Amino acid sequence: MRTPNAVARDYYGILGVSREASDDEIKRAYRKLARQFHPDVNPDPEAQEKFKDINAAYEVLSDDRKRQIVDLGGDPLAPGGGGAGPGGPGGAGPFVGFQDIMDAFFGGAGGAGRGPRPRTRPGADAILRLELDLHETAFGVEAPITVDTAVLCTTCSGAGTAAGTHLATCEACGGRGEVQSVQRTFLGQVVSARPCTVCQGYGTTIPHPCPTCAGDGRVRTRRSLTVKIPAGVEDGMRIRLAQQGEVGPGGGPAGDLYVEIHERPHDVYSRKGDDLHCRVTVPMTAAALGTRLTIKTLDSEETVDVKAGTQPGSTLRLRARGVPHLRGTGRGDLYVHLDVRTPTKLDADQEKMLRDFAKTRGEEVAELTKQGGFFSRMRDAFNGHA
Ligand SMILES: [Zn+2]
Ligand SMILES: [Zn+2]
Repeated sequence: MRTPNAVARDYYGILGVSREASDDEIKRAYRKLARQFHPDVNPDPEAQEKFKDINAAYEVLSDDRKRQIVDLGGDPLAPGGGGAGPGGPGGAGPFVGFQDIMDAFFGGAGGAGRGPRPRTRPGADAILRLELDLHETAFGVEAPITVDTAVLCTTCSGAGTAAGTHLATCEACGGRGEVQSVQRTFLGQVVSARPCTVCQGYGTTIPHPCPTCAGDGRVRTRRSLTVKIPAGVEDGMRIRLAQQGEVGPGGGPAGDLYVEIHERPHDVYSRKGDDLHCRVTVPMTAAALGTRLTIKTLDSEETVDVKAGTQPGSTLRLRARGVPHLRGTGRGDLYVHLDVRTPTKLDADQEKMLRDFAKTRGEEVAELTKQGGFFSRMRDAFNGHA
């Protein structure tokens, strides 16, 4: 027996198991950590180091002889300890692939469910941004759009082969689309399958590719379409045009095209759902005495009465003058927020009239020049003593 190593690593600690852990517990702990730190799933360089430690710990603790050395205070992986070279087994060669580890545990044995991948695959969805004015989102529009997607290659109808030629079975993989290799690891023999690099996993090759699409079965094209935008759409909504997206590799069925609505901000109206809001300024006198306003809505002109004694921040509501509802009938409302404007410049006569007016109402008005008085009255006003 070797002299116990002074710097023996804490393999139990690395896997987070007790010294009495069963083989099963060790296996479970390893599998859990491998899922977390394998470089295939965790690109962090620190995770890579950690994964090496986890591998080393599992190699040692899953082997009765090596575990015994650990339990006696030794390190079977230390240089000269009869184990793997410096740095442990993880540093000595390439990592066993994450999927291969999972396969080894779950009996997948590599290749299960894999095989040549089809040349014809469904195409991806495409998305297109469409800017519209409030008037267009509110009442709908037929908008011309330009779509830039892959479409079916008309020369080969998606087959990818030049006229009069055919696909050939890949000689490198015999048409399986993958090559298997057997790796000896501390988990035992691991059979792993990798896509065939000659045929990219298709199992077939194209000896004479279509000259138009170079074998892809599709070509990129710019098309013009008209999309019908219904009344009442909102910013961020998407309209789906079925099968107007990307044609798939090998002429596979096209994905959908989504037209995403972006509503340009309006100069006058802001929109909240189907309601519209706008601000209208009325002079202080009109707010006090009442007045009649003509309000331009999105599609009409309305006359509204501002009641005498209207306060700043008051709101007038014009029913059904907002945006039409996308679903169902009816429309949102238009809210007119009233800003009461106080005159900023008064001539001497106007100022006198206002002071006289204040006097008749018993409202005390401080002269701004008498600063102390002004501030003390303000304080009184805040305290409710005004
Ligand atoms: Zn092949
Ligand atoms: Zn073609």
